Amino acid sequence: MSSEVEKAQAAASGADSGAPTIFDKIISKEIPAQVIYEDDQALAFRDISPQGPVHFLVIPKVRNGLTGLSKATEEHKPLLGHLLYVAAQVAKQEGLAKGYRVTINDGPDGSQSVYHLHLHIIGGRQMTWPPG
Ligand code: IMP
Repeated sequence: MSSEVEKAQAAASGADSGAPTIFDKIISKEIPAQVIYEDDQALAFRDISPQGPVHFLVIPKVRNGLTGLSKATEEHKPLLGHLLYVAAQVAKQEGLAKGYRVTINDGPDGSQSVYHLHLHIIGGRQMTWPPG
């Protein structure tokens, strides 16, 4: 089992505890991050372990039950649309004119390790399919 998978399996045990995650500390500026976009609902910052020349995350500033995409309800629909729109705008800002990948890992099988919804935007290199 890869260390990424082990981390994801371990993280799943506390998934629904509602405990603050590392992303809450980034939102509150308790820990530093390279923030590249911010508005009233969303924050985009560079991933600490980039999987490409450009790798940033887009997160909602208020989790509101959205530990992961599978927890989405009707009330989250406008926010989900906004996060995707922000992803596209920031990708443009980052110069990803040739394309990029948007990924949401959900739950242990999806290798999610932080239980605060986030979109990965990875670009600046050729992607392959299928993902691992
Ligand atoms: P997940 O595996 O889809 O849950 O992705 C979590 C992501 O958060 C990983 O790509 C991590 O590298 C990233 N990450 C974890 N801690 C930090 C941090 O402090 N700053 C920026 N990115 C982080």
